[in-house]
Amino acid sequence: MTNIRFDNKVAVITGAGNGLGKSHALFLASRGAKVVVNDLGGTVAGTGGSRAVADAVVEEIIAAGGEAVANYDTVATEEGGQRVIQTALDTFGTVDILINNAGNVRDKSFAKMDLDDFRSLIDVHLMGAVYCTHAAWPIMREKSFGRVVMTTSSAGLYGNHGHTNYGTAKMALIGLMNSLKEEGRRYNITVNAIAPIALTRMSEPATTPQYAPLMKPEFVTAAVAWLCAPDNTDSGHIIQAGAGYYAKIEVREAAGVLFDTETTPQPDQIRERYTEITDMGEAAPYENASAVIRKVFKMVKPKG
Ligand code: NAD
Repeated sequence: MTNIRFDNKVAVITGAGNGLGKSHALFLASRGAKVVVNDLGGTVAGTGGSRAVADAVVEEIIAAGGEAVANYDTVATEEGGQRVIQTALDTFGTVDILINNAGNVRDKSFAKMDLDDFRSLIDVHLMGAVYCTHAAWPIMREKSFGRVVMTTSSAGLYGNHGHTNYGTAKMALIGLMNSLKEEGRRYNITVNAIAPIALTRMSEPATTPQYAPLMKPEFVTAAVAWLCAPDNTDSGHIIQAGAGYYAKIEVREAAGVLFDTETTPQPDQIRERYTEITDMGEAAPYENASAVIRKVFKMVKPKG
């Protein structure tokens, strides 16, 4: 088995001063990547800021013989996202890999949620990924190479109490990934997503102590590194990873039911056949929106 290497690749990792991002940065650098360590250096809620955490990761990479530079901008503004990518261009001349990892949390039930806390999470998780990816995209297109990873969460994919802001932002990243994978295909730009399970300062309050030793960020990094690997051309995958567990997650659609199109189906008929409509026994994933529309039109007989 040959090792996956990132020699001559420039990787930007947002939120790389702590937790998962730090682990990704250290690993990619250890395998030859030149790394931009972005981090605002704030609290788990995303407030405040300090250069210390990003600097510490850069120092650790350099001490181990790697190459890295720090960036302290917030990803939550367009200018911030541009400066993150500009740091890669100014220091290393290009960008090949972008791991959108920066994130904050402000958990509250929806009834009690201040909408500023909702907007903050959209700004950091979703718009942060949009801004950084938008700034990196033309460079990746130009060079016909790009590896982009979104950091999603089972809180968005499946739902979690107190996580309407977080879950919304995390699921929106899948929408972003799905369309970007289509737009990136011609340019050898892959866009994938990781759904991590790891012990970090963010997840610590929700972690059962007996499982804590299993929840190493490095376990998640192994999957992220594969998603970024130059020889991996898979795109649009969502990979759940943590505690030694790795699994693909996908959106599927049931085989479905076709009603007579001569008359408008009534809700009473939908009720009658709802068990069939929701039967996932023969459910299938679809490559893109056109593929599912082709399926529907294949089933339906046009009039005349
Ligand atoms: P963490 O708090 O250790 O790391 C997040 C980092 O992002 C911090 O260093 C923080 O300073 C930085 N950050 C926050 N806002 C920023 C901004 N606006 N600009 C730049 N940097 C910013 O938490 P973590 O668990 O390592 O989280 C990393 C990512 O993984 C997050 O997107 C998180 O939502 C996601 N995630 C984590 C888990 C888990 O089990 N830990 C589960 C699902 C998803």
